[in-house]
Amino acid sequence: MNLVYPGSFDPVTYGHIDIIERSSKLADKLYVAVLLNNNKNPMFSLKERMDLIKSSTSHISNLEIICFEGLLVELFDHYDLQAVVRGLRAVSDFDIEFQMAQINREMNKEVETLFMMTRLEYSYLSSSVVKELSSHGAKINKFVPPEVYKAMKEKEKR
Ligand code: ADP
Repeated sequence: MNLVYPGSFDPVTYGHIDIIERSSKLADKLYVAVLLNNNKNPMFSLKERMDLIKSSTSHISNLEIICFEGLLVELFDHYDLQAVVRGLRAVSDFDIEFQMAQINREMNKEVETLFMMTRLEYSYLSSSVVKELSSHGAKINKFVPPEVYKAMKEKEKR
């Protein structure tokens, strides 16, 4: 079974990496699909986000990092995929995830979505929380891999 884990990953956190590690064990191949979301004004460019995922997941062999623009379901036309993986942190994630899963299946009835529960210690973690904390000078090295920590500090210096 091949899985795709889509997201903005701006930047990748230990919460994402936990989902990547766990879902890669269930998959023959896991595609991490980084969304080119220009309208969201991301902190990191698409290439930077992909490179940061790459350097923090080099211990996982059945992984490929790809990018997409627009519709997730279109990836199913280009890759041999069986399901989408999404992480669930809290009940608050459920509404939007439920809606997206239904819409994706409406567009392509082959598209299944699998949900993976966050590890308790990462349940409060999101890319936006990490960026907010870091902009106020908080120590964020517990939340992101060392290369992401370094890249964030570089960005903030500018
Ligand atoms: P966010 O900006 O919310 O961190 P992304 O678009 O990068 O989100 O998230 C991609 C996927 O990763 C989503 O399914 C999201 O719910 C999941 N995710 C993000 N952070 C965590 C976490 N700490 N634990 C589990 N899943 C997470």
